[in-house]
Amino acid sequence: MDLKVAELNRRDFLKLSGMSAAAAAGLLSGRTATAQRATNGTPELRISRAKEVLGVCPFCSVGCGTVAHVRDGQLLNVEGNVEHPISEGSLCPKGSATFQLSYNEHRATKALYRAPGASEWQEIDLKRALDMIAERIKKTRDEHLIHEEDGVIVNRLDAMAHLGSAVIENEDNYAFTKLMRSLGVSYLEHHARI
Ligand code: SF4
Repeated sequence: MDLKVAELNRRDFLKLSGMSAAAAAGLLSGRTATAQRATNGTPELRISRAKEVLGVCPFCSVGCGTVAHVRDGQLLNVEGNVEHPISEGSLCPKGSATFQLSYNEHRATKALYRAPGASEWQEIDLKRALDMIAERIKKTRDEHLIHEEDGVIVNRLDAMAHLGSAVIENEDNYAFTKLMRSLGVSYLEHHARI
């Protein structure tokens, strides 16, 4: 027999019972107060009245299920979908941060550019950076496209390579691959393999 139980006399038993009852009463009154607060002006949950949009984490081919909460066209939250057959509600750290694809105060909103021969970087806006990249792609292709090789039309562009990214979505990487192949680029790689 357990020694502690054997040593419990009648007086101790009554004392313990009283403490348990008091604790239970305290819990109950706490619950009641919480319930009252919930009905008496407690702020609404961030996702209350939000529409649930089911999706798939964009980052890797595991394909974990997500639920996005959207209200009035505004994304409020992204979390794991507990009904998803693969992930059953769990997301890895990258998937858990999916919300930050849309909102993140640390997100870069400018590009850094260092002109040829310069030692300093300068901030330029993203549109200008994209225009500069597009101009360079066109120039490189115009100058280096191999149209024909050994009598065979190849339309290959060996002067350019493309590096995919695990911080953009599967679908975007797919589109990039299509775009690069249409330009003739055959050197495609992904940063996760480097
Ligand atoms: S949550 Fe993680 S493991 Fe799941 S699909 Fe996204 S990146 Fe892959």
